[in-house]
Amino acid sequence: MRLRNVTGSREAIADSPLVVQEPQEKKGHWREVFGNDHPIRIEIGMGKGRFIMDMARANPNINYLGIEKYSSVLIRGIQKLEADPLPNLYFIRMEAEEITSVFAKGEVDRIYLNFSDPWPKDRHAKRRLPSREFLRRYDEILIPDGVIEFKTDNHDLFQFALAELAPAGWKLMQMTEDLHHNEQMMQGNIMTEYEERFSAKGNPICKYIIAR
Ligand code: SAH
Repeated sequence: MRLRNVTGSREAIADSPLVVQEPQEKKGHWREVFGNDHPIRIEIGMGKGRFIMDMARANPNINYLGIEKYSSVLIRGIQKLEADPLPNLYFIRMEAEEITSVFAKGEVDRIYLNFSDPWPKDRHAKRRLPSREFLRRYDEILIPDGVIEFKTDNHDLFQFALAELAPAGWKLMQMTEDLHHNEQMMQGNIMTEYEERFSAKGNPICKYIIAR
């Protein structure tokens, strides 16, 4: 998601108490950021953050971190969170490739990837968030029985993501290529902004849950 450059968004992000500044310094110390030892779940590429805000509101005993690389997108999330503050949610502005310098081994309980950028060119496959390169990074930060939940309406990206599992040592726990007609996997589903937009256009939503 790229929005027009929003004037002053970098400054507003640097000043916001809702954003964890210098996240690398928190590596191994995320419990202290929240002031409790509840599990920490992250969404990588949160966009304007509706999903992670709804998750945090629904699950007060779980801590959430929303990660987004673009200031112009993150600023929209900050504005929404300012209007409706939540004690168990912070945002981080960062590039996901840096994830292992921000979280220590076992510090993350679950990872959500929602409507990740497809990077359709073969030579950009390594940039796809469900690629084997990223799965290796997630392996370094997730608790041993932690899971990754991935949703997309992009069928090619989903097929790619499925094919990446075995080479990277991950196992498929659950999957559907039509989430909104899968009663079991729909239980407790929280829609993301993209999910609402694309399912309204009639696109089926694919989802997997994976573990090691
Ligand atoms: N999860 C939201 C937004 C999906 S769009 C939803 O489902 O509605 C994908 C988002 O991921 C964009 O906002 C994009 O800027 C962000 N993103 C893509 N690659 C990223 C990366 N490598 N690191 C951090 N954020 C990334």
